[in-house]
Amino acid sequence: MPTAIVNELVSVLGSERVVTSGDLLEQRRHDYWVRSHLDDHQGRPAPRPACVVRPVSVEEVVAVVNACRRRGAPLIPFGLGSGVCGGVIAREDAVLLDMSAMNRVRAIDETNLLAEFDAGKNGLEAEKVVAMRGLTIGHWPQSIAVSSVGGWIATRASGQFSTAYGNIEDIVYSIEAVLPNGEVVRLGRAPRAAAGPDLRHLLLGSEGTLGVITGVTLSLRWAPERSAHSAYYAKTMAAGLDAQRRIVQGGWSPPVMRQYDTVEATRNFAESARGEDSLLFMVHEGPSGRVEAEVSGVDAIVRKAGLEPAPVEVVRKWLDARNHVPTWESFLKNGIILDTIEISAAWDKISGIYDAVTASVKQVPGVLAATAHSSHVYRSGVNLYFTFAARPERREDMAATYDECWRRVIETTAAHGGGIAHHHGIGRVRRNYLHHDLGPGGVALLQTLKRALDPVGFMNPGVLIPDA
Ligand SMILES: Cc1cc2nc3c(=O)[nH]c(=O)nc-3n(C[C@H](O)[C@H](O)[C@H](O)COP(=O)(O)OP(=O)(O)OC[C@H]3O[C@@H](n4cnc5c(N)ncnc54)[C@H](O)[C@@H]3O)c2cc1C
Repeated sequence: MPTAIVNELVSVLGSERVVTSGDLLEQRRHDYWVRSHLDDHQGRPAPRPACVVRPVSVEEVVAVVNACRRRGAPLIPFGLGSGVCGGVIAREDAVLLDMSAMNRVRAIDETNLLAEFDAGKNGLEAEKVVAMRGLTIGHWPQSIAVSSVGGWIATRASGQFSTAYGNIEDIVYSIEAVLPNGEVVRLGRAPRAAAGPDLRHLLLGSEGTLGVITGVTLSLRWAPERSAHSAYYAKTMAAGLDAQRRIVQGGWSPPVMRQYDTVEATRNFAESARGEDSLLFMVHEGPSGRVEAEVSGVDAIVRKAGLEPAPVEVVRKWLDARNHVPTWESFLKNGIILDTIEISAAWDKISGIYDAVTASVKQVPGVLAATAHSSHVYRSGVNLYFTFAARPERREDMAATYDECWRRVIETTAAHGGGIAHHHGIGRVRRNYLHHDLGPGGVALLQTLKRALDPVGFMNPGVLIPDA
C-alpha cells in the first residue's frame, strides 16, 4: 500500500515534491515532544513515513488529500514540527504532509490591518514582514522562530503578549483549509459574524485531524508607541496571583504578565530573586498616555495588595531570552526526563491547583523539581505553566516516570476544577485525558464531527480524538 500511494503522489505532483529517501524522512518522524526524543534516545525510534510531500499550492494539497483518502493512507500534516504534545509521529504507511514549502506572504492590507499568509509561513518571518511596515501580529509564542502560522491555528496557540492582544483565536481573521473530502473552504469574511456557529473553531485546535490549513489571515496592530516595564515581589504565589486578579479586574491589561514561584525566580533571575518571594513582572504597551496611566494604576493596586517593587531589569533579561528553544539531548544523556505542562483555572481555584500539583509531583520517585509560573491572564482566571524534572534511579524507568508526572499534573488539575490544556494542545500526551475538559458528551460530539468530516479516518490518526 505505501508504494501505491507514493507512486500516485509522484505521478500527480512530480517527483520533486515527493521525497522518499534521505535526511528529510528522518527529520520528519516526529515533532518536539520530549517523549519521542526519549524514545529515539533509548532505541525505540518512530518509523520513517512512506514519503514526505512538500506542496506549494492549495491545488497540490487538494491532490494529496484526495489521493490519501481514496487509498486510506494516513496523512499527517506537519508545520514546522515545534509541537510538544506528540501531534506528529510518523508511521511506515503514512504520508507526511510538510507544509513548510507553502510559505508565501499573500497580502498585507494596511487599511484593514490584515495580513494573509500561506499556512507554512514561519512565524518569525511573518512578524518581520509586517514589522517592516510598522505593524505587528502581536502573537509571540516562545517558539515563534520554529513554528508556522498554520501550526498556530492547528494547535490553538498562545503568545507571550496574550493578556492584552489575545490568543490566536482572537487574532485570526480567516482560515482557508482543505477538508478531508477535498473541498476548499474559506472561513471568516468580516470582522465579526452571526452566521451560525463560527466554523473557524472547527479548525482552531484540530491538530491535523479535520483538515489541512492552507492559508491564514491575521489581524494586525500598529507597533506600540511606548513600552514600559514593572516588577514586584510577592510573599507567596497566592498573593501574587491575587494581585494579578485585581489588576485585570481593575481594567488594566499589560500584554505581558508573568509570575514565577520561588524556585523558578531563582533559576531564571538569580541576581534579582529575593528569599522565598515569588516574582511578578509586566510589560505595558500602547499609546504613551495609556502606558503611563497603566504603570501608575497597576502600581497602586499591587502596593495595596502588599507587593514590593523588584528591579525592572528582570524584564529586560526575560525579553532577551524569551524565544530560546531548549534541546532535550543533554538532559536525556544525564538520565533526566523533564517537560512543561500548561493548564488554566478560575481565580478561586488556581492557588489550590498550584499547591496540590507541585506537592503531588514531588512525591514521584526521582523527581528533582516541580515548579510553575503564570503567563496568560484573563478577567476570570489565569494559566499555570508547570515544569517538572526527574532522574529516576533506573534509566529504563524514565518513560514511566514521565507518564506518572503528567498523570499527576492533569488528574490533580482536573480534580481541583481546572482546565487541562491552556495552549500546547492535546496531541497524544493528553488524548486520554480530554474527557476532563469536554465531558463524555463533548468527546462523543468531537468523535461524531470526526466521523462526519473524515469517515475514512485517514487524517492524523491517533491524535487529539480518543477512540470511540
Ligand atoms: C521551545 C518551545 C516553546 C514553545 N512555546 C509555545 C508558546 O509560547 N505558545 C504556544 O502556544 N506553543 C508553544 N510551543 C508549542 C508549538 O510551538 C506550538 O504548538 C506551535 O503552534 C506548533 O506549530 P508548528 O508549525 O511547529 O506545528 P507542528 O508541530 O508541525 O504541528 C502541530 C500540530 O498541528 C498540526 N498541523 C500543523 N500544521 C498544520 C496545517 N497547516 N494544517 C493542519 N494541521 C496542521 C500537526 O499535524 C500537529 O498535530 C512551544 C514549543 C517549543 C518547542
